[in-house]
Amino acid sequence: MKQKSGADLSVQTRLVHDPDNAYGVVATPVYHASTVLFPTYADLRRGEADPLSRDSMYYGRMGTPSTRSLEDALSALDNSVGAVLFPSGVAAIAATLQCFLRPGDHLLMVDSTYGPTRNFCLGYLADIGVETTFYDPCAGTAELQSLFRENTRLVFMESPGSATFEVQDVPAIVSLAAGRGILTAIDNTWATPLLFNPLDHGVDLAIQSGTKYLNGHADCLYGVVTCRDNTLYDRLHRYALATGSHLAPDDCFLARRGLRTLAVRLAAHEAAGIALAEYLAQRSEVSQVLHPGRPEHPGHAIFRRDFCGASGLFAVVLDGFDEERLARFLDALALFGMGYSWGGFESLALPMRPVRTLSTRLALGPDQRLLRLHAGLESIDDLTADLEGAFAAAAR
Ligand SMILES: *Cc1c(COP(=O)(O)O)cnc(C)c1O
Repeated sequence: MKQKSGADLSVQTRLVHDPDNAYGVVATPVYHASTVLFPTYADLRRGEADPLSRDSMYYGRMGTPSTRSLEDALSALDNSVGAVLFPSGVAAIAATLQCFLRPGDHLLMVDSTYGPTRNFCLGYLADIGVETTFYDPCAGTAELQSLFRENTRLVFMESPGSATFEVQDVPAIVSLAAGRGILTAIDNTWATPLLFNPLDHGVDLAIQSGTKYLNGHADCLYGVVTCRDNTLYDRLHRYALATGSHLAPDDCFLARRGLRTLAVRLAAHEAAGIALAEYLAQRSEVSQVLHPGRPEHPGHAIFRRDFCGASGLFAVVLDGFDEERLARFLDALALFGMGYSWGGFESLALPMRPVRTLSTRLALGPDQRLLRLHAGLESIDDLTADLEGAFAAAAR
């Protein structure tokens, strides 16, 4: 296990430089492994003594140097004591909730959370007797305080919220929870630790779908949880090992490689996202731009206070769009692909139907459509022209 290390080099530099590249080879090698041999009987016995220790690589499932390289890089990015890898973002979220909640416990889950997270609470957690209350992402201290119960164990955040981009007051929520000894976890996929560092804001467990910006090339799935202290890390690491969770070596390699360029990619995604949001705000068809980096966004003050910048994912509300007009618009897009996920190098457009428990969230009229856009790394002028062409096609 690692001590928290001071960040004396800038993040851009730390992403590029590996302290322990083997034999002078710049890239981290891929270790394909199930069996690991022990040179002597004494070594075998040592390996068995603490098979769950992070230093033990006594069988492929426990990880290899490929795994450790990725874990160390992610852990350092978050200023955490340790990172635990999972085969997907959803696996990381599910593992965190399963590991730290017991039957009879109560969970506070933000209402704007990612759909599969909501479904995990309503399905699996409900089945095992964990009760979930969904709370308003913009709830004030008093409102949130009234939702805490004797058996509340964990508050889960996601900021900005999936699809609707509400910004949460993370420090305020953390101080409320910490005062009662309640754990806090956050889905930080949108920002990555480069734009918002949850652990520096006192959050206990920071979760990301590495599938998105961390990998950034739309070619592998993974998830990661970083932990604020060693007790949390030990518990989650042991849970992951006990349940046989494993990220395959080739995916570790892709993930490690993608991470090298995270800082420059994010800066380009941010610039493209802001330019496209600006263009869309001028369009008469667009009634709302849901981008926390824009001054008129309701969460902009908190965003300015807590975040170092925006990533490239945002949404707009299209007015006067029925299903046919929406189809004409989407089918006319040549550069924006239509598909799930985001955070890769490519631009994406996806109509969203966010599900909410509370009635206070974004209400869409019958001829309004919520369109989520991911600003990729193409030329901003080409992307704007693509949208322009689609608006023209939609009007026909
Ligand atoms: C995609 C996504 C996830 C899930 O990640 P997978 O790697 O696809 O399982 C979790 N949270 C958010 C906000 C996401 O966008």
